[in-house]
Amino acid sequence: MDGIPVKVIYSRRKSLSMKFDKTGTLIVNAPTHVSEGEVRSFMREHTRWIRLNYVKALNMAENLKAHEFKGGGKLLYLGKEYGIRISGRGRIVKGQDEFIFPEGADEASYERWLKARAKEYLPVRLTYRAYEMGITYRELRISGAKSKWGSCSETGKITLSWRLMMCPPESIEYVLIHELCHRIHMDHSKAFWAEVESMMPDYKKHKKWLDDHGYLME
Ligand SMILES: [Zn+2]
Repeated sequence: MDGIPVKVIYSRRKSLSMKFDKTGTLIVNAPTHVSEGEVRSFMREHTRWIRLNYVKALNMAENLKAHEFKGGGKLLYLGKEYGIRISGRGRIVKGQDEFIFPEGADEASYERWLKARAKEYLPVRLTYRAYEMGITYRELRISGAKSKWGSCSETGKITLSWRLMMCPPESIEYVLIHELCHRIHMDHSKAFWAEVESMMPDYKKHKKWLDDHGYLME
Protein backbone atom coordinates (compact mmCIF):
# COMPACT_ATOMS: atom_id res chain seq x y z
CA MET A 1 0.00 0.00 0.00
CA ASP A 2 1.64 3.23 -1.23
CA GLY A 3 5.08 1.96 -0.28
CA ILE A 4 4.10 1.41 3.34
CA PRO A 5 5.86 -1.72 4.60
CA VAL A 6 3.33 -4.32 5.72
CA LYS A 7 3.80 -7.52 7.65
CA VAL A 8 0.88 -9.93 8.10
CA ILE A 9 1.08 -12.21 11.12
CA TYR A 10 -1.32 -15.16 11.21
CA SER A 11 -2.24 -16.60 14.57
CA ARG A 12 -5.11 -18.24 16.44
CA ARG A 13 -6.99 -15.05 17.05
CA LYS A 14 -10.60 -14.15 16.38
CA SER A 15 -10.43 -10.91 14.45
CA LEU A 16 -8.22 -8.72 12.29
CA SER A 17 -6.31 -5.87 13.87
CA MET A 18 -3.38 -3.69 12.96
CA LYS A 19 -0.82 -1.35 14.41
CA PHE A 20 2.47 0.23 13.44
CA ASP A 21 5.64 -0.96 15.09
CA LYS A 22 8.38 1.47 16.08
CA THR A 23 10.17 1.14 12.72
CA GLY A 24 7.08 2.29 10.77
CA THR A 25 6.03 -1.16 9.54
CA LEU A 26 2.31 -1.86 9.53
CA ILE A 27 1.72 -5.09 11.44
CA VAL A 28 -1.56 -6.79 10.53
CA ASN A 29 -2.63 -9.51 12.94
CA ALA A 30 -4.96 -11.97 11.23
CA PRO A 31 -6.77 -15.17 12.19
CA THR A 32 -5.39 -18.21 10.33
CA HIS A 33 -8.59 -18.74 8.32
CA VAL A 34 -8.59 -15.27 6.75
CA SER A 35 -7.57 -15.04 3.08
CA GLU A 36 -5.10 -12.63 1.53
CA GLY A 37 -7.97 -10.87 -0.23
CA GLU A 38 -9.78 -10.35 3.05
CA VAL A 39 -6.64 -8.84 4.58
CA ARG A 40 -6.38 -6.47 1.62
CA SER A 41 -9.99 -5.32 1.85
CA PHE A 42 -9.58 -4.85 5.62
CA MET A 43 -6.65 -2.55 4.91
CA ARG A 44 -8.63 -0.72 2.19
CA GLU A 45 -11.42 -0.03 4.68
CA HIS A 46 -8.87 1.56 7.01
CA THR A 47 -6.88 3.55 4.45
CA ARG A 48 -7.46 6.82 6.28
CA TRP A 49 -6.31 5.40 9.61
CA ILE A 50 -3.26 3.84 7.96
CA ARG A 51 -2.17 7.06 6.20
CA LEU A 52 -2.60 9.11 9.37
CA ASN A 53 -0.80 6.71 11.66
CA TYR A 54 1.98 5.97 9.16
CA VAL A 55 3.12 9.59 9.44
CA LYS A 56 3.06 9.34 13.24
CA ALA A 57 4.97 6.05 13.19
CA LEU A 58 7.61 7.52 10.86
CA ASN A 59 8.12 10.52 13.13
CA MET A 60 8.67 8.17 16.01
CA ALA A 61 11.10 6.05 13.98
CA GLU A 62 13.01 9.24 13.06
CA ASN A 63 13.17 10.24 16.71
CA LEU A 64 14.46 6.86 17.70
CA LYS A 65 17.14 6.99 15.05
CA ALA A 66 18.22 10.40 16.27
CA HIS A 67 18.89 8.90 19.68
CA GLU A 68 20.81 5.96 18.38
CA PHE A 69 24.35 5.95 19.55
CA LYS A 70 26.85 7.07 16.94
CA GLY A 71 29.10 9.98 16.14
CA GLY A 72 26.95 12.76 14.71
CA GLY A 73 23.87 11.41 16.51
CA LYS A 74 22.05 12.95 19.42
CA LEU A 75 21.53 11.97 23.04
CA LEU A 76 19.14 13.17 25.68
CA TYR A 77 20.25 14.07 29.16
CA LEU A 78 17.91 15.82 31.60
CA GLY A 79 15.65 16.71 28.70
CA LYS A 80 18.36 18.44 26.71
CA GLU A 81 19.72 17.17 23.39
CA TYR A 82 23.46 16.70 23.12
CA GLY A 83 25.60 15.90 20.12
CA ILE A 84 27.94 12.93 20.18
CA ARG A 85 31.66 13.16 19.48
CA ILE A 86 33.98 10.20 19.58
CA SER A 87 37.51 11.11 20.49
CA GLY A 88 40.51 9.64 22.27
CA ARG A 89 40.43 7.29 25.21
CA GLY A 90 39.37 7.39 28.82
CA ARG A 91 36.19 8.63 30.39
CA ILE A 92 32.94 9.98 29.02
CA VAL A 93 32.93 13.76 29.21
CA LYS A 94 29.78 15.86 29.11
CA GLY A 95 30.42 19.23 27.53
CA GLN A 96 28.12 22.21 27.10
CA ASP A 97 26.39 20.84 24.00
CA GLU A 98 27.96 17.48 23.36
CA PHE A 99 29.11 14.27 24.89
CA ILE A 100 32.65 13.20 24.14
CA PHE A 101 32.93 9.42 24.15
CA PRO A 102 36.17 7.45 23.94
CA GLU A 103 36.80 5.24 20.92
CA GLY A 104 34.91 1.98 21.14
CA ALA A 105 32.13 3.40 23.32
CA ASP A 106 28.63 2.30 22.45
CA GLU A 107 25.08 2.70 23.68
CA ALA A 108 25.82 0.45 26.66
CA SER A 109 28.55 2.88 27.77
CA TYR A 110 26.03 5.71 27.71
CA GLU A 111 23.52 3.62 29.66
CA ARG A 112 26.12 2.82 32.30
CA TRP A 113 26.91 6.51 32.57
CA LEU A 114 23.20 7.35 32.89
CA LYS A 115 22.76 4.69 35.57
CA ALA A 116 25.63 6.17 37.60
CA ARG A 117 24.08 9.66 37.29
CA ALA A 118 20.69 8.22 38.36
CA LYS A 119 22.26 6.81 41.52
CA GLU A 120 23.59 10.26 42.42
CA TYR A 121 20.60 12.33 41.36
CA LEU A 122 17.42 10.39 42.16
CA PRO A 123 18.04 9.55 45.86
CA VAL A 124 18.87 13.20 46.61
CA ARG A 125 15.77 14.51 44.83
CA LEU A 126 13.48 11.89 46.39
CA THR A 127 14.78 12.59 49.88
CA TYR A 128 14.22 16.30 49.35
CA ARG A 129 10.70 15.85 47.90
CA ALA A 130 9.63 13.44 50.64
CA TYR A 131 10.87 15.85 53.30
CA GLU A 132 9.12 18.78 51.66
CA MET A 133 5.84 16.84 51.35
CA GLY A 134 6.12 15.36 54.85
CA ILE A 135 5.82 11.85 53.43
CA THR A 136 7.92 8.82 54.34
CA TYR A 137 8.88 5.82 52.21
CA ARG A 138 10.74 2.66 53.05
CA GLU A 139 13.43 2.41 50.41
CA LEU A 140 14.38 3.47 46.91
CA ARG A 141 15.38 1.03 44.23
CA ILE A 142 16.78 2.19 40.89
CA SER A 143 15.86 -0.15 38.08
CA GLY A 144 16.07 -0.39 34.32
CA ALA A 145 12.32 -0.80 34.03
CA LYS A 146 11.10 -0.47 30.47
CA SER A 147 7.39 -0.43 31.19
CA LYS A 148 7.19 2.46 33.64
CA TRP A 149 9.20 5.39 34.91
CA GLY A 150 8.40 4.69 38.52
CA SER A 151 6.29 2.71 40.96
CA CYS A 152 5.42 2.54 44.63
CA SER A 153 4.54 -0.65 46.49
CA GLU A 154 1.97 -1.08 49.27
CA THR A 155 4.87 -1.38 51.70
CA GLY A 156 6.37 1.95 50.66
CA LYS A 157 9.14 0.75 48.40
CA ILE A 158 9.69 3.22 45.58
CA THR A 159 11.26 2.08 42.33
CA LEU A 160 12.53 4.57 39.75
CA SER A 161 13.92 3.84 36.31
CA TRP A 162 17.40 5.21 35.60
CA ARG A 163 15.99 6.07 32.15
CA LEU A 164 14.40 9.05 33.91
CA MET A 165 17.77 10.74 33.57
CA MET A 166 16.90 11.40 29.91
CA CYS A 167 13.83 13.41 30.96
CA PRO A 168 13.57 17.11 31.86
CA PRO A 169 14.06 17.79 35.60
CA GLU A 170 10.41 18.92 35.93
CA SER A 171 9.18 15.61 34.53
CA ILE A 172 11.44 13.73 36.95
CA GLU A 173 10.01 15.81 39.83
CA TYR A 174 6.51 14.91 38.62
CA VAL A 175 7.35 11.18 38.83
CA LEU A 176 8.76 11.62 42.36
CA ILE A 177 5.63 13.49 43.45
CA HIS A 178 3.42 10.88 41.75
CA GLU A 179 5.06 7.99 43.57
CA LEU A 180 5.14 9.81 46.91
CA CYS A 181 1.42 10.62 46.57
CA HIS A 182 0.84 6.86 46.36
CA ARG A 183 1.87 6.80 50.02
CA ILE A 184 -1.41 8.66 50.66
CA HIS A 185 -3.59 7.04 47.96
CA MET A 186 -2.63 3.65 46.52
CA ASP A 187 -4.79 4.27 43.42
CA HIS A 188 -5.25 6.78 40.63
CA SER A 189 -8.47 8.19 42.07
CA LYS A 190 -9.64 11.79 41.85
CA ALA A 191 -8.29 12.32 45.35
CA PHE A 192 -4.89 11.04 44.23
CA TRP A 193 -4.68 13.45 41.27
CA ALA A 194 -5.89 16.33 43.48
CA GLU A 195 -2.99 15.55 45.81
CA VAL A 196 -0.52 15.53 42.89
CA GLU A 197 -1.93 18.82 41.63
CA SER A 198 -1.64 20.46 45.04
CA MET A 199 2.08 19.58 45.02
CA MET A 200 2.65 20.50 41.36
CA PRO A 201 -0.10 22.69 39.85
CA ASP A 202 1.27 22.32 36.27
CA TYR A 203 1.91 18.57 36.51
CA LYS A 204 -0.11 17.80 33.36
CA LYS A 205 2.48 19.48 31.17
CA HIS A 206 5.32 17.46 32.68
CA LYS A 207 3.32 14.24 32.58
CA LYS A 208 2.60 14.85 28.90
CA TRP A 209 6.30 15.02 28.09
CA LEU A 210 6.71 11.54 29.58
CA ASP A 211 3.68 10.23 27.68
CA ASP A 212 5.05 11.66 24.43
CA HIS A 213 8.51 10.19 25.00
CA GLY A 214 7.58 6.71 26.16
CA TYR A 215 9.74 5.30 23.37
CA LEU A 216 12.83 6.45 25.28
CA MET A 217 12.22 3.54 27.63
CA GLU A 218 12.70 0.98 24.85
ZN1 LIG B 1 0.70 5.73 39.85
